Amino acid sequence: MRIVVDLTRCQSYGQCVFLAPKVFRFHGEEVLEYNSAPDDQVREQVRWAAAVCPVQAILLDYLDEQPEAVSQPERGGGKV
Ligand code: SF4
Repeated sequence: MRIVVDLTRCQSYGQCVFLAPKVFRFHGEEVLEYNSAPDDQVREQVRWAAAVCPVQAILLDYLDEQPEAVSQPERGGGKV
């Protein structure tokens, strides 16, 4: 998961800081800082933070994640 916050939209409401404090924090009183590539353990918190941001400034993408390997059925063995 990667995060981009549109800081021109962010109004420093702080909901993201409250919901995902390991990812978002304020530097000073109003400048939002964030980890753009958070651990999977906080993934759900980040999704909630993005959902509740009043100005929808938090954008998420999942391009850095590998699709789960699709297991191929094993073929019946034996020598030919
Ligand atoms: S919830 Fe949205 S507006 Fe509020 S601090 Fe976070 S990014 Fe900014």
